[in-house]
Amino acid sequence: MSYPIIPLVPGKEAAVGFWHPWIFSGALVQHPVLDQHRVLPGHGDLVCVSDRQGKIIGTGTFSNKSSIAIRVFEFREAVIDRAWFVAKIKAAAERRTESLLLSKGESGGGSATTAYRVVFGEADGIPGLVVDRFGDVVVFQISTAGLDRLRDEIVAAIDEVLAPAAIVERSDIAVRREEGLNDFVAIHKGDVNAPIAFEENGLSFVADVQAGQKTGFFLDQKDLRKWILAHGVTGSVLNLFSYSGAAGIAAMKSGAERVHNVDGSADALALCQKHAELNGVDANAFTTQMTDVFDFLNANKESRYDAVMVDPPALIKAGRDVEEGKKAYHFVNRAAMRLVNNNGLFITSSCSHFLPEEDLAFILRRASVQAGVRLDVLAVIRQAADHPQSVYFPESAYLKSFVCRVSRN
Ligand code: SAH
Repeated sequence: MSYPIIPLVPGKEAAVGFWHPWIFSGALVQHPVLDQHRVLPGHGDLVCVSDRQGKIIGTGTFSNKSSIAIRVFEFREAVIDRAWFVAKIKAAAERRTESLLLSKGESGGGSATTAYRVVFGEADGIPGLVVDRFGDVVVFQISTAGLDRLRDEIVAAIDEVLAPAAIVERSDIAVRREEGLNDFVAIHKGDVNAPIAFEENGLSFVADVQAGQKTGFFLDQKDLRKWILAHGVTGSVLNLFSYSGAAGIAAMKSGAERVHNVDGSADALALCQKHAELNGVDANAFTTQMTDVFDFLNANKESRYDAVMVDPPALIKAGRDVEEGKKAYHFVNRAAMRLVNNNGLFITSSCSHFLPEEDLAFILRRASVQAGVRLDVLAVIRQAADHPQSVYFPESAYLKSFVCRVSRN
């Protein structure tokens, strides 16, 4: 089988040559001379790209709407069909099993973890696809027109490799607009009518796979929860942008007396209460407040806690938002660290790829001087290993947390 071939503008081969999976529209020859058998590719088609000598250097999906015109699946000529998805998903799943075994070894035998990301898009060589597993239920997300057309192959491949009881699709993500796609949510296999229960390092959680944020749970913060469990948090804790309170549950299980969870979403706070119940945490010690965190911080300047955790959504979503976004990170971090008692903990995260770790450190430096507190970094924790950082795709590095001891005098 051969796909339409799009030549690259001479000189634009370097990124693909080093296995970066995105080709921007400016790198494509816009009006290729076609021989009589060839047709121009349409939105969502599988295509090949060639270098100036006409040699095929990649196979992927084409978009005529997004600035990312081609997402490369293989850096050679290839056929992208059901068998290809089976092989790729299988390889990704095997890497997870290995890293989960490693983390069990680390914790000395450890307890079961039954939820993890199986496929992390470009970082696993399947651009545009995310697959998460929660126990017996698999949830996936498609973000491109190219993959939208291959849905049946993807569902069949997930079923063949992972054999789950249920397969849920949560393609209700904003990035689909850039590809001209609408939201799409479906249950492709099995019955799902309640949040799905799973275990993580001895904690019991649920993922609201049908209506929750992302695919239902923030699996990427697993290593931060693990740090909290291993090192312990004591006293009173404020959990800002709590979502389902997962980090707060880890804090309670590790020695905290009480956690106050703040989030703007009523559904998220209902999950906090569910998580308290599931983990035998007293509801009176695990309180919730539905409000905007920025308003909360403006209204509660005199409160004090032994630990404050801050985990906002990406406050910088695109390169053009960097300056505004940095101001928001500065404000929220400065206000939140002011609430920490002397010798307490300040745990702050950013999930924005557009705010690299060193820029977050710079914001913390300036914010702490202005707040009049000193921060000593105890740990820097990144996205868990099931959300791999790919050296070929720097965009895959996005989540970092600084765990700091706060001193004030
Ligand atoms: N810490 C969570 C993940 C947080 S995700 C965990 O580990 O599971 C970000 C959360 O911030 C979401 O639950 C969202 O509802 C909430 N949120 C976003 N903007 C907000 C705002 N301005 N005020 C309060 N909550 C907000």
